[in-house]
Order: sequence, then C-alpha cells, then structure tokens
Amino acid sequence: MKNLWGAYFIIFVVLGLVCLIAWGIAGAAAALGIAAAVLVLLVIHHVRHIALLRGWLRHPVPEAVPQGRGIWDRIFAELYRMLRRQRQSESKLTATLEDFQQAGAAMPDGLVILNAADRIEWCNPVAEQHFGLDLARDVGQSITFLVRQPQFAEYLRNQDYSEPLTLRQSRGSDYILSVQLVPYGDRQKLVTSRDITDFERVETIRRDFIANVSHELRTPLTVLCGFLETISESRNAEGELLRRSLPLMTEQARRMQRLVEDLLTLSRLESSHNTPREERVDVPNLVRALYHDALALSSGRHRIVLDLACEDWLLASEEELRSAFSNLISNAIRYTPERGELTISWRRRLAEAVFSVRDTGIGIAPEHISRLTERFYRVDRSRSRETGGTGLGLAIVKHVLNRHQGRLEVESEPGEGSTFTAVLPAERLLAPQSRESVAKSA
Ligand code: ADP
Repeated sequence: MKNLWGAYFIIFVVLGLVCLIAWGIAGAAAALGIAAAVLVLLVIHHVRHIALLRGWLRHPVPEAVPQGRGIWDRIFAELYRMLRRQRQSESKLTATLEDFQQAGAAMPDGLVILNAADRIEWCNPVAEQHFGLDLARDVGQSITFLVRQPQFAEYLRNQDYSEPLTLRQSRGSDYILSVQLVPYGDRQKLVTSRDITDFERVETIRRDFIANVSHELRTPLTVLCGFLETISESRNAEGELLRRSLPLMTEQARRMQRLVEDLLTLSRLESSHNTPREERVDVPNLVRALYHDALALSSGRHRIVLDLACEDWLLASEEELRSAFSNLISNAIRYTPERGELTISWRRRLAEAVFSVRDTGIGIAPEHISRLTERFYRVDRSRSRETGGTGLGLAIVKHVLNRHQGRLEVESEPGEGSTFTAVLPAERLLAPQSRESVAKSA
C-alpha cells in the first residue's frame, strides 16, 4: 500500500509540474486540458482492470488470474500467490482429513461422530454395519432416530458414559454390541461400538453348559439316592425291592458313568496346552475294526455296509479318531430303526480325506443341524436318553476334528436319513508312498 501511495504521489507531482509548465506556456485552459486528459486515461485504465477482476471473480481459479498493467499487475500477482497458498493449505487439510478417515475406516470398532444436537456428522463403515447406517443417506440425522432402542436413547440422555452399554439387535443387524460414548470438544460426542456377539454366545454356551451338567447329573442321582434310601429304610421288603431297584440303579449309574466319561473326554480335548498326538494311523484298519464293533452293537438289527475306497493313513491321534468315528457310528445305529441301512466309508474327496457314516434313519430337520455339536443339544431328548445317549457325542466329534484342522459336515432329511462326514485336511494324509518315506525317516 505504501508503494501504491508513493507511485500515485509521484504521478500527481509530475502531472502538477507538467500542468504548471503548460499554464506558463499556453495558459490555464491548456493546463486543465492536460490534467483532465491524464485523469480520464487513469479512470479508463482502472475501469478496464476492474472489469477484468469482475470477470475473473465468476470463476476464481489461480490459473485464470488476469494479466494487469502498472499497479494492477502487482495486485493480480499478489492475488495469484494468495490463491495458490490457499489451495495448498486446502489440499493439506484434505489429505489430513483423508488420513483420519482412512484410519477411522480401518478401525475394527465402529465410530460415529455426533454434533452438539446428537446428529451424525461422520461414521466409519464398521459403524454403518453395526447400526445399519448409511453415511451418505444418514449424515445430519439424529442418532436416536436411527438407533431406536430405548436403552440407547436413555444412555444418551443420562450423560453418564463411564460404563459401556450392551445393545442387542440394532436396526438391520443381529449384532450384540458394546457401545460407549466419549464426549469431546464443544459438546460433541464420539460413539464407539464393539461386536461382542461371539463373546456373548460363548458366555451363554458356558452358562448353559454348567446348568445342563447339573441338570443331567441330578436325575440319575435322584433315582439312585431315592432307591438307596428306600432300601435302607424298609428292611423287611429287602429281597423284593432289591430285585426291582437294582437294575434301575445300575442303568442310571451306567448312564452317569458314560456322562462323566464323555465330560472328561471333552475337557481333555478342550485343554489348550494339549495338542493331538501325531501318530501314523492305519485308518483302513481302524475303520474295519469299527465296522466289526458296529455289527456287534447293532446285533443284526441293521444292514451295515463297509466302503473302503482308499488305503490312505493319517497323521493323527488314533485314540481321538477312534472316539470321533465311533460316536458317528453309534449315533447312526441309535437313530436308525430296525432293518435300516448304514454305510461306513473311508475315501478321498479331491485332496481331502473323508470318513462318513450314512444311515437311513429318522433324519434331522434343517433348523437343528447348526446346533447339533453344542453340548447336550438333542433334537429329541427322550429318544436320546432311551438309546443311551449322553448329548455329548457330536461335541466330542467336533472338538477332535477341530484339533486335526478338519470339519464335520451334516446332510440330513427328516424321515429319509443322515450323512455325517468327518473331513480331514490333505496335509494329514499319508498316501502309501509317503507312508514309506515317513517310516524310513522315523
Ligand atoms: P446323543 O448322545 O443325544 O446322541 P450327540 O451329540 O451324539 O448326542 O447327538 C446330538 C443329537 O443329534 C442327538 O440327540 C440326535 O438328536 C441328533 N443326531 C445325531 N446323530 C444322528 C443321526 N445319525 N440321525 C438322527 N439324529 C442324529
């Protein structure tokens, strides 16, 4: 500005001098004429540049800043530099914002930013999933309008955010969430959400398990204790009572024994520091032995077919495989009515090895299939008891297969029959050639 005033001061001093000289030589009219002409030229110069400036202001991008003359050249140059600086800081800010959003999007937890009126300013994709939100659509909406559980609205109102809130079944999702609010800045809030569905499910299974164990052990114990008390109290009817009660007592005691055995097997399988033994298991031989056990267990009530389609061995724990495979076979026998048919097979399926038991038994309705490997889960509790089941067989099968990086597949049709398939990974297979090389190196 100082320079601007300086420049105009010089122009007006020079103009004044020129006018004075003109006055001296040609009179006042000439001096006034010169002054007027110079002033008109100056006005035209400025009006032209103001028009350029107005035109540029319609699309104010640095690349299109007009070229000026005289003082306007400096003004336009300054404008250009200012816009460049602004654009640079804008792109820095955008990059920082993008970094922040990327970090937020990569978070395993959900994040929602609320303004002072509890309206959504931003959320990451995990929060979109957790709360059934869509950032593009829901930005600016009140969170309580979208997350409609009353306990969430109350949590927000209470303003005590020291403890997280457990939310079930948010809009459009089946998640169980742990939600925590963190106030910050000018009455803004950060909502964090963590998926605790699996944790809650495990907790429920654990609680149910303990309840079920006590429940399962209570009935046999009550029977045993009841009879024992009666026997000890009625001495004169001793012979008759003993004859009636002893078989029942024995049956319930056996059941309890089987339960305890299965519980112990499960807890052994569950202990994390306990990895399966890696023996070279002659599976065809094991399956043949289990086939003979099945014939004995069925005692001629079923037709049992053995289908040994491969001679592969496995690197596995023989005891655990025996336990898993025999559970599948005994289930097939127990849930297949007389004259039904069972097929026990050992074969390759692509690279994997599969042991399967197919039966023509009672079958299982689809809604039960995903829950069969839960402890004490039975489709028909009384039938399982009648046939001597403990409700733990398939839980044991699942554990054994997990420990061998395998999996259980179940196909079933009510009234038609079921196929239980234990799939074992290719890495555990010992084909005849590799068996020899393992044997040599052993
Ligand atoms: P259980 O001792 O009761 O048989 P399991 O864990 O072995 O317990 O099996 C769980 C449930 O799965 C059984 O109660 C039964 O309802 C069902 N199930 C298992 N195998 C079969 C099968 N081959 N056919 C029909 N239902 C079966």
